[in-house]
Amino acid sequence: MPVNLLDFDLPQLTDFLASIGEKPFRARQLMRWVHHFGESDFACMTDLAKSLRARLEHEAVVGGPKLLSESTAADGTRKWLLDVGAGNGIETVFIPETGRGTLCVSSQVGCALECAFCATGRQGFNRNLSVAEIIGQLWWANRALGRDAHSDPATGDRIITNVVMMGMGEPLTNFDNVVTALRIMLNDYAYGLSRRRVTVSTSGIVPNIDRLREECPVALAVSLHAPNDALRDRLVPINRKWPLAQLLAACRRYVEAIPYEDGQDQASPSGVKWKRLGAPRDFVTFEYVMLAGVNDQPQHARELLAIADEVPCKFNLIPFNPFPHSGFERSQPEIVRRFQQTLLDAGVVTTVRRTRGDDIDGACGQLAGRVNDRTRRRERHEVEVRA
Ligand code: SAH
Ligand code: SF4
Repeated sequence: MPVNLLDFDLPQLTDFLASIGEKPFRARQLMRWVHHFGESDFACMTDLAKSLRARLEHEAVVGGPKLLSESTAADGTRKWLLDVGAGNGIETVFIPETGRGTLCVSSQVGCALECAFCATGRQGFNRNLSVAEIIGQLWWANRALGRDAHSDPATGDRIITNVVMMGMGEPLTNFDNVVTALRIMLNDYAYGLSRRRVTVSTSGIVPNIDRLREECPVALAVSLHAPNDALRDRLVPINRKWPLAQLLAACRRYVEAIPYEDGQDQASPSGVKWKRLGAPRDFVTFEYVMLAGVNDQPQHARELLAIADEVPCKFNLIPFNPFPHSGFERSQPEIVRRFQQTLLDAGVVTTVRRTRGDDIDGACGQLAGRVNDRTRRRERHEVEVRA
């Protein structure tokens, strides 16, 4: 069985090439061909020896995702439905803005966490995505947006400047594959993105927030959605396992701790040796979906101020994106504005996320892909899943 080179970060690619008698610099060349140039045909990799190309033809593939469908929204947002086999699809969304382009990447087929307001959670969980399937979304989007992955032919600028792990799934419950994919995103021979421009969004898997800080610190977004445990238990059920006090403590650690300098004697708990990387950001972004009458009242905003006192943070208020039978409604713009103002008046940086791509169901929480649900539920929700 040939290996899929999209599964490998640079050290793994180096090991693979060593196993067929090749030197480490070949791994850097190959990484560049595969990711930087988006090349999948070994015959085109002209600076590799002919014998190596022939060997790779037999032993390896660059197995990117297959496209099931694509759509473009009126605002230029693009969405690709990619085939991950067994009748399952995952969705990847590209959001162009002035001066930046953000790719929203999925980490799982479905999601097990069942947040009350999320279409992905309603579908149940099927499986984790492999490294190739995660990084394959960036690989695919780069090719789809212009073959030379990194730049707009007219301006020479990068097309995809930011990646957010905010598509389908909970990235921190697919930890190892997500971290390997993140390393490929950051690698200079591959995509060369800075840690500040790659964001992992989590609903609050506390132990893995700490592991992320140790193993691959990138910008962190936390789906807060409620200012107290009683409400958060209802909206984000994982809160019953790791309640707010634990979550906020992990957030503080994330922004405070700077990974260890190589050779210093602070040992990271997992024994990883670090070069001094610097915390990628000195704040956590709290995402807060605005649900009419549920978490959007003035007292909720005031409760959030206490949280903002504890954790260096910014707030991003997300207008709720409806889906069939969700049982929730979007807060009125005036309510959102007042909520934002309460936070701003107390000096807390607070933005309201512009809804993008909702006419193609590409907005936050609307990504449903196609999922053959393998979870058994006590209670089966009535949901319309788009085929
Ligand atoms: N599982 C991760 C990342 C994916 S969800 C997480 O929960 O953080 C990305 C963001 O979209 C999260 O903040 C999530 O809570 C939010 N979201 C989910 N459903 C939504 C909806 N219907 N409308 C608006 N935002 C939603
Ligand atoms: Fe999963 Fe995130 Fe949706 Fe919650 S909001 S169900 S964690 S994808």
